[in-house]
Amino acid sequence: MAKSGYLREIDRLGRVVIPKQFRKEMNIPEDGGEVLLTCKNGVVTVSKSAETCIFCRSRRRLSDFKGRPVCAKCLDEIKYGARDESAAEEE
Ligand SMILES: [Zn+2]
Repeated sequence: MAKSGYLREIDRLGRVVIPKQFRKEMNIPEDGGEVLLTCKNGVVTVSKSAETCIFCRSRRRLSDFKGRPVCAKCLDEIKYGARDESAAEEE
């Protein structure tokens, strides 16, 4: 029998697991991310939400870094190293 979908239980809080294969196809990071849920005519659709930084999930000032979205702040940390903000406050 050809598999046309995955049968999943919804827990008592309304949660359902999106199969790993689907998350991979949607390019959702292993440690989580956001999806957009819509419901129309009784059909729930799960789609990838707007792109977010792969490190901090910001949506602001994204640029492409090796094919992945990275925000300007994280890109600066990659380029110049993480700043020790507690040391900066002491100066
Ligand atoms: Zn970031």
